[in-house]
Amino acid sequence: MLHLSFHSFCLLGDIIDIMDLSSAVSELPFVGPVYLTRLEKLGIKKIEDLLNHIPNRYLDFSLTSPIERAQLGETLTIRGRVDSFKNIYTKSGKKMQIAEVSDKTGKILAIWFNQPFLLRILYEGVEVSLAGKIDWFDRKRALISPEYEIVSGGKETIHTGKIIPVYSETAGISSKWLRGRVKQAFDKVKDNSLEFLPSSILNKEKFPEVKTAFEYVHFPLNLKNVDLGKNRLAFNELLFLQLESIRKRIDWQKNKASSKLVIDDTSMNRFIESLTFSLTLSQKTAVKEILDDLKRDYPMNRLLEGDVGSGKTVVAAAAAFVSFTNGYHSIFMAPTQILAQQHFNTLNSMLQPFKVRISLVTSEVKKIEIGQMDIFVGTHALIHRKVNFDKVALVVIDEQHRFGVEQRAHLIKKAGKKSQAPHVLTMTATPIPRTVALTFYGDLDLSTLNELPLGRKRITTWIVPPQKRDNAYIWIEKQIKNEGIQAFVVCPLIEESEKETMAQVKAASKEFEILEKSFQTLKFGLLHGRMKIKEKNKVLSDFRSRRIDILVTTPVVEVGIDVPNATIMVIEGAERFGLAQLHQLRGRVGRSDKKSYCLIFTQGRSQKSLTVLSALTKDLSGFELAELDLKLRGPGEIFGTAQSGFPELKIASWSDLELIRKAKETAEDAFKNPSEYSMLFAKLQEMQQIPN
Ligand code: ADP
Ligand code: MG
Repeated sequence: MLHLSFHSFCLLGDIIDIMDLSSAVSELPFVGPVYLTRLEKLGIKKIEDLLNHIPNRYLDFSLTSPIERAQLGETLTIRGRVDSFKNIYTKSGKKMQIAEVSDKTGKILAIWFNQPFLLRILYEGVEVSLAGKIDWFDRKRALISPEYEIVSGGKETIHTGKIIPVYSETAGISSKWLRGRVKQAFDKVKDNSLEFLPSSILNKEKFPEVKTAFEYVHFPLNLKNVDLGKNRLAFNELLFLQLESIRKRIDWQKNKASSKLVIDDTSMNRFIESLTFSLTLSQKTAVKEILDDLKRDYPMNRLLEGDVGSGKTVVAAAAAFVSFTNGYHSIFMAPTQILAQQHFNTLNSMLQPFKVRISLVTSEVKKIEIGQMDIFVGTHALIHRKVNFDKVALVVIDEQHRFGVEQRAHLIKKAGKKSQAPHVLTMTATPIPRTVALTFYGDLDLSTLNELPLGRKRITTWIVPPQKRDNAYIWIEKQIKNEGIQAFVVCPLIEESEKETMAQVKAASKEFEILEKSFQTLKFGLLHGRMKIKEKNKVLSDFRSRRIDILVTTPVVEVGIDVPNATIMVIEGAERFGLAQLHQLRGRVGRSDKKSYCLIFTQGRSQKSLTVLSALTKDLSGFELAELDLKLRGPGEIFGTAQSGFPELKIASWSDLELIRKAKETAEDAFKNPSEYSMLFAKLQEMQQIPN
């Protein structure tokens, strides 16, 4: 027994010596159970995660000065000997620490607050390196709350005397502690070869090696190197995302399509000619791409991305039509009951002439006609319904980001069998820049509707400051009376949330009451997600039939609603929305040949938000606004909160389109020429074996 444990102890020793990037952080000194949990909260489990945890800023302590020459206001490092150290109480009863430090040239004070334990570290006679800003204390020069480290015996500094990384201080982990661990980790692995990219790529992109990149980021000699290092690590992050996407795509293509579809050009043409409009060029292209997918023997997995009002429904209807002519079923999944209802109506009007039987399945509609229907339209409740999934050839998912990834997978699985899957078309109005979409949705093929149907008028957009609000209402009233049009009032997103919150419901309800009182000659309606489906439908049908002039809603429920006679959109509290989101809301109007308007009501407090909002008054597409949003506010604003499933990048940024493109090219090249990327694939395999 004893022998055995002694032996395993030796083995452990060996492991520590041959530590590599995939070793657990628990193998580092000072990482016990408590810190292990804290690190895990930051997503740090392996040495590599730790080295990829990059600082969010740097302090320049590289100026080292003799004590005598340290000037007021300078940020610098001094080295000296502690002459005295004492804990004292201030007048307000706080604990303060004062050290006197001297070198050959002079003396200086160092002051800390509430760190009595320093007494045991910085006692008389200790050689210390201190870094911080020189200030006055008690009419003497002093370093206030400086970084400190003991340098007795000529120890190399990591907290002072150079450019010092500062890590975000979350989860109870201080920068100082992290610096120490990062240094230990780096020293343990730096003799291994860490590089996994072929040198041809490094040369082509002028990337530093991985090891150098870690060094640049954590122990920089200058700030230019920081950028070089960060860029390389960001590239790595994007590259692995891309590789993962491509692998998923390859896996998907190993499936067989659950039903073989034949495209009959004649009946397809009949369908397209039966429409009351002619397809836009990009709709035609999208339909063609989809039909090509449907012909293949592995299932389609395509994302149809298009601005609001670009006409995605008809493209999906064309696919459903093919499924129908082949004798199969289709499923349309919408994010809300109202939208399911609307799809149901639209599909009916387009497909009824061809005797396609469409069923609206909601949680409140009890009976479903299994086997007697061709298309099932519903919300996620559909998943749990007894639709006969055996004959489902096509699944259409609208407004993708509102569904959880799991719900989506569940539905696809239900409609497929072992190694079989239905054709899947996902539609989104979130205008993700193409490059970003190709990374995030890299496992999907992408069709883009990049134009609005002909004859759509630009939506004239005004930013309305508080003092012009009354005039705006008078103008709206006049428009409604003289032009017979209708209006939406969208109440603000009070909390950042994908889901409608109670606060939003309240805001909308309150606005409704105020408006109803102020404009007695107009008829108002209120719509929010907490209403019963019957009430919602009643309000919507009243709005469609013009029994309501102004519909007051929350931002959530009205996504995708199509009421062409509504040509005025009022958005309250616009500062809280992202540009792309505002653009989506605005897209509810401008759906007919009538002139449409969007009035953006602001609180008018911040000049910055006004400047941002003014982008909406220019003629920019949803994609252009999304790119602007990416630059100005980051991806969270466009893609919603964590619920959207949009991966948070740790190092790279979704707005770095150029680097995203490079990573994509490299990933594709790797799968094409695997022999040149053997080390990369070895790493990929290793990453997949060790769950993180
Ligand atoms: P979205 O892409 O936002 O889902 P919809 O599919 O709801 O857009 O279409 C918006 C409106 O445009 C609908 O009323 C639809 O009938 C109409 N539409 C779609 N395509 C065309 C087209 N090519 N020409 C004219 N109107 C179209
Ligand atoms: Mg739609």
